[in-house]
Amino acid sequence: MRILITGAAGFLGSHLCTKLLDEGHEVVGMDNFVTGSPANLAHLAGHERFLFIRHDVSDFIFVPGKIDAVLHFASPASPNPLSPYGYVNLPIQTMKAGALGTHNTLGVARAQKARFLLASTSEIYGDPLEHPQTESYWGHVDPIGARSVYDEAKRFAEALTMAYHRYHSIDTRIIRIFNTYGPRMHIDDGRVVPNFMQQALRGEPLTVYGDGLQTRSFCYVDDLVDGIAALLYSDEHDPVNVGNPVETTILEFAHTINRLTNNPAGVIFKPESRIGNDPQRRRPDITRARAILHWEPKIALEEGLQRTIAYFRQKMEAE
Ligand code: NAD
Ligand code: UDP
Repeated sequence: MRILITGAAGFLGSHLCTKLLDEGHEVVGMDNFVTGSPANLAHLAGHERFLFIRHDVSDFIFVPGKIDAVLHFASPASPNPLSPYGYVNLPIQTMKAGALGTHNTLGVARAQKARFLLASTSEIYGDPLEHPQTESYWGHVDPIGARSVYDEAKRFAEALTMAYHRYHSIDTRIIRIFNTYGPRMHIDDGRVVPNFMQQALRGEPLTVYGDGLQTRSFCYVDDLVDGIAALLYSDEHDPVNVGNPVETTILEFAHTINRLTNNPAGVIFKPESRIGNDPQRRRPDITRARAILHWEPKIALEEGLQRTIAYFRQKMEAE
């Protein structure tokens, strides 16, 4: 296939480009670098089946030549207002990437008779009242809170994707991605993994927000891109959760990173949630992914963290 990937210069997008090129496809990557970096695609420079187009997906998209699949990953993704990459500091861009960007990429899929895959998120469940989260749960979302620019843009994007599927018979897929980590996350991204890694490797205490008893379930990026590819090749049109169901508190997570980096500085507690509505419990129910995609994560947390620590160590030494 010849595949358009938006958000190609970001963390997930760059891994996805590599994965799909490795599987023999042609890839057209698109990005405007608002939170991504050309460095994430440096390893693909000169690749004969890779083309990069610098473009904002909120504007009309033109791609020369035939496209067989469109994967829409362009969107800021970090909730941390202390980071310049945080979507609360890019609120209009975030809503436009989710709304106009989804409209434009669906337009490409329609014009090209291509299949379409939307990168959605566990954030569409909000601060969930149901645990673990199944795809049938409708969520608990504040429509005007600071997180709403991301959550509601993604909810709109899912609705628009289903509208194109039902009304225009577009061959769509929706993946609900749970917290994913690994090499090529931006060091100043502000999400918990780059923050903790950076602090641990500097020998500083890790900043735990609130009491640290809120939970997340962390998936290593190689497992995630395998899940994305499996969904792309499937015929499933309803949303599918993809993530690692092993749940940990943020406090336990901090202690694990300190142990793996031999950081003696411990943790420091910072005031509860930076922007409010910090989801208190998050764990995917991946029953559907297991049944439909025959997919489940393979990489254990400590192994994935070791690989990520090696990346951040090298990045920080180079700076
Ligand atoms: P990222 O910030 O590393 O990557 C996003 C990329 O999209 C960046 O390269 C950015 O420059 C690009 N982008 C943003 N707006 C754009 C626009 N208008 N036009 C062109 N490019 C634009 O974040 P990520 O973690 O790789 O997330 C990628 C996608 O996956 C996002 O849609 C995000 O919502 C989704 N997601 C990620 C996670 C996760 O844990 N990493 C979880 C759930 C969902
Ligand atoms: N968090 C933290 N310290 C940090 C960054 C994040 O304790 O330096 C917490 C945050 O409050 C949340 C969890 O870690 O409970 C995951 O945050 P992240 O920003 O990675 O993304 P989220 O899962 O909230 O979208």
